[in-house]
Amino acid sequence: MFVQEVALVSETTRVKTRELMRVGAALQKQAARDFEPIWSVPATIDVFERLEDVPIGYWPVIIRDDIGFQGAAGTHLDQDGQPFALVQADEPWSLTASHEVLEMLADPFGNRVIAGDSIMPGQGQVEYLVEVCDPSEAAEFAYSVNGILVSDFYCPSFFDPLAVAGVRYSFVGAIKGPRQVLSGGYLSWHNPVDDHWYQARFFGPKLTFHDLGKFDDESSAMSLREWVDQRSYDARRAYTGSAVTIQKTAVQAARDRGQLYAKSTRSRARRWRTYTKKLLGRRQQAQGARKRSGR
Ligand SMILES: [Zn+2]
Repeated sequence: MFVQEVALVSETTRVKTRELMRVGAALQKQAARDFEPIWSVPATIDVFERLEDVPIGYWPVIIRDDIGFQGAAGTHLDQDGQPFALVQADEPWSLTASHEVLEMLADPFGNRVIAGDSIMPGQGQVEYLVEVCDPSEAAEFAYSVNGILVSDFYCPSFFDPLAVAGVRYSFVGAIKGPRQVLSGGYLSWHNPVDDHWYQARFFGPKLTFHDLGKFDDESSAMSLREWVDQRSYDARRAYTGSAVTIQKTAVQAARDRGQLYAKSTRSRARRWRTYTKKLLGRRQQAQGARKRSGR
């Protein structure tokens, strides 16, 4: 069995190792419990304090204060053609990290396509870029693992020809049929007829279609994912800015849930400490008794 190895590293003082470890544990649980049974991709997600500690062969997901130039957030290929991702440390960064990790697992090199009927009127069969979190990426469709906000993702059934009752199209069930794009989400594909890339965006009151043009030689240093992300960066940013209230409500709800979780874990920790004390006390008593009886 081939296990994909992902390393989570913070390069900002805003995200402390303690928080990073809690998020890392949530991402690992999401990958093993939720993602692997659906996409058959086994993975480990481990936290490292410094980039220098990341073992060779791991794909790094780096949390930073500044993602620099536009469209740099997301998954890329490094100078050796290996996957790595940059995540901006803004709240809710666990949601972004989960998005990038899951997409890295489903399509490490950002070039995987799956054939399906086009959702754009007038087009036939097209090739969809496999970006498992994009159509339901908004915080309102996210869910919590260990009280930490993580992204919804679509299932392989997302590319089925027809909607069938009872079929799960995305993990939380927010997507109700094949190739459905939810509010705040998007979907990208290649049309072999004119060799152009297209995108459906739900960044306003309704779904809109956009011609992204040809993926030409000059962009070939990039993966399709990087190229498509760059071409939709401004629209996505404008949307995120306009949907702040919806996002805030979802993020606040997750934060409240996180606080309830923290209450439980604190109580749990207290009980473990008390029990440890009791256990050690009992041992000491037993040792003392043995000494006294001269054994
Ligand atoms: Zn994505």
